[in-house]
Amino acid sequence: MLKEIGGVQIQPKHRASCHCGSVVLELSLPDGVVDPRRCNCSICRRKGAVVASVPLSGIRILQGAEHLKLYQFNTFTAKHYFCSNCGIYTHHQRRSNPNEYGYNVGCLEGVDPFAIADIPTSDGVNHPADRH
Ligand SMILES: [Zn+2]
Repeated sequence: MLKEIGGVQIQPKHRASCHCGSVVLELSLPDGVVDPRRCNCSICRRKGAVVASVPLSGIRILQGAEHLKLYQFNTFTAKHYFCSNCGIYTHHQRRSNPNEYGYNVGCLEGVDPFAIADIPTSDGVNHPADRH
């Protein structure tokens, strides 16, 4: 977990927003940014965002819920949300742990995700739920 990124303190209640500002979220991050990662699955490889995790109770939509669009595919377990105006991915309800959201670290106000050294890439191509 990271309590500061590139000299910016992660607040216990940190705001996050899409690019156009229509969607504003409040993330509860008492432990900072937990488990930042990228993923090589079919959707993450296209969006390329650095993602971290919070419990479902850790995201509050402050503004713009009506602008959030839901995208689902394959098993329709995960729920991927993005701003319907600017297209930016904000958060998703995870498939491997539906009790958690993943969120776009790049949406955190003031935070440069590329200031995080050595961001691991999850092997989402070989997702546990796809193994038989
Ligand atoms: Zn937007």
